[in-house]
Amino acid sequence: MSSAFYLQQSGCKVTVLDKNDFLDNCSYGNAGYVCPSHFIPLATPGIVRQGLKWMFNSASPFYVQPRLHWPLIEWGIQFIKSATSRQVEIAAIPLRDIALFSQHEYESWTKLPDFNFAYEHKGLLEIFQTEAKAEHARHTVEKAHELGLDATMLDKDTLQGMEPHVKLKALGAIFFKCDSHLYPNQLMKSLIDHLKRNNVCLVPNQEVKRFEYGNGVIKKIITTDNAFEADEIIVAAGSWSREVASLLDTRLPLVPGRGYSITLEDSPYHLNHPAVLMEGRVAITPMDGNKIRFGGTMEITSTQTAPRMKRVTGILNAVKRYFPEFDIPMPAQDKVWYGYRPCSADGLPYIGRIKKYRNVIIATGHSMLGLSLGAGTGKLVDEIVHDRPNSIDMTAFAVERFS
Ligand SMILES: Cc1cc2nc3c(=O)[nH]c(=O)nc-3n(C[C@H](O)[C@H](O)[C@H](O)COP(=O)(O)OP(=O)(O)OC[C@H]3O[C@@H](n4cnc5c(N)ncnc54)[C@H](O)[C@@H]3O)c2cc1C
Repeated sequence: MSSAFYLQQSGCKVTVLDKNDFLDNCSYGNAGYVCPSHFIPLATPGIVRQGLKWMFNSASPFYVQPRLHWPLIEWGIQFIKSATSRQVEIAAIPLRDIALFSQHEYESWTKLPDFNFAYEHKGLLEIFQTEAKAEHARHTVEKAHELGLDATMLDKDTLQGMEPHVKLKALGAIFFKCDSHLYPNQLMKSLIDHLKRNNVCLVPNQEVKRFEYGNGVIKKIITTDNAFEADEIIVAAGSWSREVASLLDTRLPLVPGRGYSITLEDSPYHLNHPAVLMEGRVAITPMDGNKIRFGGTMEITSTQTAPRMKRVTGILNAVKRYFPEFDIPMPAQDKVWYGYRPCSADGLPYIGRIKKYRNVIIATGHSMLGLSLGAGTGKLVDEIVHDRPNSIDMTAFAVERFS
């Protein structure tokens, strides 16, 4: 959608195809963080060991469903290879750069007359309860300062003073002043309305099934019941992009990472800032006035597996450990949102042209950061289409870096 936004602005005639109706995908129920603070990808040295420990706990925040499925094995091998201190160090700069770039773009969207997505630049708290996470937080703050990001360690009392409406059980927190947040559902609505008003053609129920090619370019996109021609094709199919890329003879290590969220539309609890509960791996976001959203879990599984409500219980239990006054009953299953993060093997997105066909650009793999990096990615795609110099260094995002 962000690519469509920038391509329309730069004079292209744009058509967007969706296998569904544009109204329910991962970009709706997420936590809404626009977060330069998230410069550490999921693949870290500790996560593999932790993942093995959590494998048999159905309420755990990170879980890989064991399956004899080649795409999962291929992704797993690259994930483990990426989970080194050196790779984490290397990833930090490109993640910071694309996040700051994207945040700048979102800020420009807030000035558009028809865009209202409850964007607020108030910072983000990362709250910890244990000495082990406090130590980790100190390293993260040092690293954030090296990267030029505004981050401060808060002690228990200062933290409590910043959130006077709730009783907090915590040792302290990091305060990332550099972060902002928004209401994703409203962002999506603004984008869709804006695109429609500007004559972008949004065609629902068009699952891309195959491509017709000749002379090194894609000539036709064949969907369930239609065929489309285009000079340039952008594949931004989220967690399904691996399958679409394979129709283009392009290997993309990518798996769906399911997460869940619950939103209180008129919350009796009031938080001033979005907050990550570090030990619980839960994200809480006060958004759009009185709403509050609780999200979490990273469940590497197939998109066909039924949702596991025990993981939602795990989220609510974690919330209670930090906010003892929060009394959130387990909602009915149809009130629980879930979505599939498009997880690349190293946590960095895949953005750029593919080698096999000259007129195809991939824009996916944003993992836990697809909202944060959305606007920036759209702008970068537009630069690639028009062969303009990229606003930031794109080397780390090369689509075929694992081939
Ligand atoms: C609980 C949770 C919290 C999160 N919190 C944050 C956060 O705070 N900040 C952040 O930056 N990120 C967050 N994320 C991650 C973020 O939501 C995703 O990275 C992002 O939404 C991915 O966007 P996307 O456009 O790539 O994919 P999607 O939004 O899933 O869109 C992909 C689209 O492609 C379509 N499609 C798929 N296959 C085909 C096909 N063959 N033909 C046609 N159409 C097709 C789908 O129908 C869908 O509409 C969170 C995720 C979860 C689950």
